[in-house]
Amino acid sequence: MSEFRFDDRVAVVTGAGRGLGRAYAHLLAARGARVVVNDLGGSIEGDGQDTGPAQVVADEIVAAGGEAVADTHDVSTPEGGEAIVGTALDTFGRVDILVNNAGIVRYGSLPDMPLENLERHIAVHLYGTYNTTRAAWPHLRRQRYGRIVHTTSTGLLGLDNNQAYAAAKAGTIGLARSARIAGEPHNIKVNLIAPAAMTRMGGGDPLGGDDAPARPGEPHLPARAVAPMVAYLAHEDCPVSGEVYIAGGGRFARLFIAATEGYVHTDGDATVEDVAGAWETINDEKGYYVPDGLMAWSGSFLKHQFGG
Ligand code: NAD
Repeated sequence: MSEFRFDDRVAVVTGAGRGLGRAYAHLLAARGARVVVNDLGGSIEGDGQDTGPAQVVADEIVAAGGEAVADTHDVSTPEGGEAIVGTALDTFGRVDILVNNAGIVRYGSLPDMPLENLERHIAVHLYGTYNTTRAAWPHLRRQRYGRIVHTTSTGLLGLDNNQAYAAAKAGTIGLARSARIAGEPHNIKVNLIAPAAMTRMGGGDPLGGDDAPARPGEPHLPARAVAPMVAYLAHEDCPVSGEVYIAGGGRFARLFIAATEGYVHTDGDATVEDVAGAWETINDEKGYYVPDGLMAWSGSFLKHQFGG
């Protein structure tokens, strides 16, 4: 197989001053991309800012023979999103790839979790993803080419003290699923990564744990093990759009939303008792389907009304 290259491509990676974003930025640059290393440089909870992390990673890339520029704008504001894309345009003249990776986490659970916890997660993960995507979109459309990777999390599957984070990460899937359809006529593909890595956020080394040796009996999850999947989703040859992939520790997998065939009630209006009586059938995963979009889902869901 020929090497997957990113020559002549310009990539923006948000939150690339540490952890996963740093690994993505390094891999894209090593394969020829010119990279905007964005990072606000705050704490794991999103407090404060520091120009250091973005600059360090940009310097690392340049020292390794690549091209990179540091950017320290905040993804959570529309102005920040515009400025980050502006850095790509001003420095490299274009933008082709956007990896929406910047993130924070503030653990909390009901009833004590304050509304601010939800607001901050939504601001960074959901507004942040929207702000940069909105800023890049007209340029991607005009050039009829774009590859966008949003970041979701298997945290959305459920964890007691993780509700706001999970809600925000689930939101990025909705953004991508619909942007996929809007982008299709313009050769813009929008996919998602659900990473697993022992970064600062993952409970490991602040720089991503990439140099930590594997220890017997302990999970070994370097950030660099996620990067090949992100790079493939960011490549011209990426074969999919609107899909979620999990990567970490050497495993690469697809995560998807599916519907069961369910129960069809044909004898007048269904009662609560009918629903309770059909519970097993409603939940039966045999014959489940993975709808490609809302229209595909409604076609399957209502097929019994049209003789299906
Ligand atoms: P990390 O804390 O090491 O890196 C996140 C980076 O984002 C930090 O450098 C931070 O300064 C930056 N950032 C935060 N808010 C920002 C803002 N408003 N504007 C610009 N930059 C900002 O964490 P990580 O593990 O590398 O996480 C990267 C992404 O992957 C996050 O979106 C996270 O939610 C997601 N994720 C990580 C894991 C994991 O196992 N580590 C699992 C699921 C999802």
